[in-house]
Amino acid sequence: MQTLPSQISQLNAIVEKHWGIHKLRPLQEPAMCAVLDGRDSLVVMPTGGGKSLCFQAPAVVRGDTTVVVSPLISLMKDQVDGLISSGIAAVQLNSSLTPEERQQHEKDILAGHVRLLFVSPERLVQTDMQDLLRKIDVRTFAIDEAHCISHWGHDFRPEYRQLRLLKSMFPKASVHAYTATATEQVRGDIIQNLNLNDPEILVGNFDRANLTYRIMSRRGGLLKQVLSVIDRHKSEGGIIYCIRRAEVDELTAELKQAGIKAMAYHAGMTSQERSQTQEAFSEEHCDVVVATVAFGMGIDRSNVRYVLHTAMPKSLEAYQQETGRAGRDGLEAECVLLHSGADVFTWKAIMQKAASEQNQNQFQYQDNDLSYLETAYEHLHIIDRYCRGAACRHSLLVAHFGQTYDKESCGACDICLGETIEVEGAPVIAQKILSCIARLKERYGIGYVAAVLRGENSQEIRNRGDQNVSTYGLLKEHHVNDLRDWMYQLISQEVLVQENIDLGYGRAVPILKLNGGSWQVMRGQRTNIRLLKPAERKKGERAKLSRAETGSWDGVDRDLFETMRDLRRELADQRRVPPYIIFNDATLRELARIRPSSLERMRMVSGIGDSKLRDLGQTFLDVITAHCKETGATFDS
Ligand code: ADP
Ligand code: ZN
Repeated sequence: MQTLPSQISQLNAIVEKHWGIHKLRPLQEPAMCAVLDGRDSLVVMPTGGGKSLCFQAPAVVRGDTTVVVSPLISLMKDQVDGLISSGIAAVQLNSSLTPEERQQHEKDILAGHVRLLFVSPERLVQTDMQDLLRKIDVRTFAIDEAHCISHWGHDFRPEYRQLRLLKSMFPKASVHAYTATATEQVRGDIIQNLNLNDPEILVGNFDRANLTYRIMSRRGGLLKQVLSVIDRHKSEGGIIYCIRRAEVDELTAELKQAGIKAMAYHAGMTSQERSQTQEAFSEEHCDVVVATVAFGMGIDRSNVRYVLHTAMPKSLEAYQQETGRAGRDGLEAECVLLHSGADVFTWKAIMQKAASEQNQNQFQYQDNDLSYLETAYEHLHIIDRYCRGAACRHSLLVAHFGQTYDKESCGACDICLGETIEVEGAPVIAQKILSCIARLKERYGIGYVAAVLRGENSQEIRNRGDQNVSTYGLLKEHHVNDLRDWMYQLISQEVLVQENIDLGYGRAVPILKLNGGSWQVMRGQRTNIRLLKPAERKKGERAKLSRAETGSWDGVDRDLFETMRDLRRELADQRRVPPYIIFNDATLRELARIRPSSLERMRMVSGIGDSKLRDLGQTFLDVITAHCKETGATFDS
């Protein structure tokens, strides 16, 4: 079967009517056609790419019931609320329902009133559920977060394995898988495990042009660096990731002391405490969450304006996923990664500990061998090189996911914005650092070598007589933080090595050692050394804004935006839904830019369909009118 042109125009009309969306994104149309044609499909799009619409809109056009499998009850609830607010019949069947609610839902389902039915994977394979679905002859299954079926993925869920049976349980139905995880291996695994039959494979563009990446080393006190990011995003939503739970607790306490209403989230808290944080964040009563990566799936807040990593994540995949939670509404958002050379060691220690514990427990999915540790280390080295590289962050990230980046400069990363610059004469600086290490007979760590290079007058140096080595004070014009960074950069360019030397009594210290590459640099045989440092900024000067950062506020009436944001929060509280279900930030900014004078004019704003216009239009129009009267601002600009 082929989608007919009439069906495509019907699709567009549906999307316009219910979602107020005027134009589909490039892969959405073919993805929707696969659903209409009943051809299996695998759709890979980055977070925020608009995957849900790909199965939601065709469900309305088809007029029968599409079953959506989703891993978390909270995710389902948000989708169901969103659909209902757009005037589409959607229900979820899960254990939280009362018997009466359940009966009512089943009645609606049997009567064919329900367009989208959300269930968990474990629920789907229960016999009573299968009986129900057979009675209505379900023809379409949508599998959300489909990478959960693959143990190559970063988020394997054993209960997803039961979906292997889906095709044999419902031979006449087509199955559609959706994920944001792009690697070849995971893709293959999804197709194989779901037994997809000649699927349409659609892979979207992995660049998130609305994100500005800033990657820099931790220096001068973490709290200060964190506060400067928060300061750029007053009263906006942000997530701050730490590696360890203790760091989460510590930073949360420090932020509170500094007057920031931050909440913590990690797996060591009770489930009640965790859901408190999650709800406060999603309802916009709290804007800053400090968390371990346990905070992730299930956050559907679309107006997260920044994601800040206080340390390097464990892989580029994890980085893409975690930063992907910023700017899901398509508006600009900032991703800041603060790293240090120590992060690789921290991760390795965590991984080794986990591996030995898993081995003791005969961990069932990793076949009890340690080769996956090697893979994990390789992931670490890739992201470490990424952090220390001097090339466009967008371009390298996209390249890692097998795509080419066609722009010369992204205009939205620290490198392209000129915030991080290459140091001139890097090979000579490298020679000086390495010869100092040679003179000191490869016996010390980064801190001491930096002190000698800077010619510091310390007791420790005098005691050892190192003020007399020929490299003493050789780089005294440079900042100690730069020297430290450069040594880590030399390590990641593999012309310097850091070795843990056991001091006995259970302590080890990292000592700098030379290798073949070091000697090539010192002899001038290798000159392709690059060193980076933050560009000098004049006192009081703010970070330059990227194109993405300036563009989407163009012409927006900020006061009106904030007023409408308060209104949105009130309405959301009354209705017990997250604020973005009312209107997302993009819609709110568009309203604050245009200041529509009538409902007709308001209907043209993206994100306002018929049902929302009826439901919310007048309430917002009143606020806009009052604002214009009060401030003298003009309508319909
Ligand atoms: P994903 O599931 O891929 O992370 P969503 O389906 O949640 O992304 O969509 C992210 C946001 O983009 C939602 O607010 C959605 O309404 C919006 N969206 C989806 N498709 C379009 C489109 N074609 N034009 C404008 N906005 C869109
Ligand atoms: Zn760039």
